[in-house]
Amino acid sequence: MRSPSPFNAWSLIQGGLSGQRHWQAQWRKAEPRRTYDVVIIGGGGHGLATAYYLASRHGIRNVAVLEKGWIGGGNTGRNTTVIRSNYFYPESAAFYDYALTQYEQLSRELDYNIMFSRRGMWVLAHDPHQRDKMRHSANAMRLNNVDAEFHGPDGVYAAIPGLNRNPRYPVWGGLLQPRGGTARHDAVAWAYARAANALGVDIVEQCEVTGFDIVGERVQSLRTTRGDIACGKIGVAVAGHSSEIAKLAGLELPIQSYALQAFVTEPVKPCLDTVVMSPATGAYVSQTDKGELVLGAGLDLYLSYAQRGNLPWMERAAQGLVDLFPQFSRLRFLRQWAGICDVTRDSSPIIDESAVAGLHFSCGWGTGGFKAIPAGGTCLAHHLATGEKHPLASFASFERFVTGHLVDEAGAAGIAH
Ligand SMILES: Cc1cc2nc3c(=O)[nH]c(=O)nc-3n(C[C@H](O)[C@H](O)[C@H](O)COP(=O)(O)OP(=O)(O)OC[C@H]3O[C@@H](n4cnc5c(N)ncnc54)[C@H](O)[C@@H]3O)c2cc1C
Repeated sequence: MRSPSPFNAWSLIQGGLSGQRHWQAQWRKAEPRRTYDVVIIGGGGHGLATAYYLASRHGIRNVAVLEKGWIGGGNTGRNTTVIRSNYFYPESAAFYDYALTQYEQLSRELDYNIMFSRRGMWVLAHDPHQRDKMRHSANAMRLNNVDAEFHGPDGVYAAIPGLNRNPRYPVWGGLLQPRGGTARHDAVAWAYARAANALGVDIVEQCEVTGFDIVGERVQSLRTTRGDIACGKIGVAVAGHSSEIAKLAGLELPIQSYALQAFVTEPVKPCLDTVVMSPATGAYVSQTDKGELVLGAGLDLYLSYAQRGNLPWMERAAQGLVDLFPQFSRLRFLRQWAGICDVTRDSSPIIDESAVAGLHFSCGWGTGGFKAIPAGGTCLAHHLATGEKHPLASFASFERFVTGHLVDEAGAAGIAH
């Protein structure tokens, strides 16, 4: 059992009076052991959630999470924090809505404030065709029991007061998911790490996986920069680096890796209380609790592992933002970065065992895997623990690339795919 949360008002006041010296590390700095029941590669949200659910729901606690850098230093700590379940097909709607439902009570379950903010998520239509498609999407979402509202221009302008009345592309309407919102991304990683650690999971940072020993098409052990580890069940959750890990096992994945960028401005007083996405202008924006505007750009469609981003995409995102909200034109960018996204041809994920027995992958999250973390972790943990696919993840298979039964969610993936 975890000790009672130190994050209460009394403890904060005490800390303030005593120089903040009472804080303890939220997880142990574990040394890797020579054998585990399950090893998870990748200390992002998906890897940590998988470890937590293995321990909490399946009682499997002899588990290690191996992270080559630091917890949450990959895409989990680089994203624009948008959480939504506005997908089209029933299987993906069920999957992402399960994740959203888990997010709604995650702070309580993990006893850690992930700052989930249900502020609503708008997707704007800028021509009659987009408007009709959005009405269609709203109907599909409602049929899938997901909350959705279509509003004409008056409804959009009433809900987003600062929106430009005379933008380059007129506003023909908007699709609102009221339950959509944001959460603090690194808090999600820290919360899962802390909870998994409390259940006995070893979280090993600065430990890169460099190879596998495979005998008779079954994985036996893995090689790391901190020694070899014997383990017959491995979960790989390394986002844009999935193909590199697969190559170490002699596998080729139906994944392509691209850089996606994000930016934050200097902080300003609260002025935007919802998430706004405009596929036509290429902008999506929300405001953090600190006051910074968080701004995302599109995928740079040049295959790359370079996490630094580039100026042309920054300019494009800034143009889109200023077109929608001219009043933001005088804000300065404070930070800019990129993360490497793992994109499948149908923009749907893969949570499945590979052709190497015992070696499982959770990948294909592309530009939208942050919102999926609780569902992705649940499903990978279930598969590793029981040997059976979780029903929610039946669509997220390797097999679909052979049979052609793709679940094409390119539209719901938004502007980035
Ligand atoms: C700019 C940007 C904006 C985004 N915006 C959103 C958004 O608003 N909403 C949303 O839902 N999604 C968004 N995403 C996507 C989302 O961030 C990712 O899909 C999600 O975080 C993937 O989580 P993960 O745990 O699979 O991977 P990661 O968080 O990337 O974690 C993988 C970890 O594996 C480690 N690793 C890699 N190779 C090895 C190795 N050999 N050995 C050990 N460790 C290794 C890495 O260091 C990394 O820490 C965005 C992504 C980016 C880049």
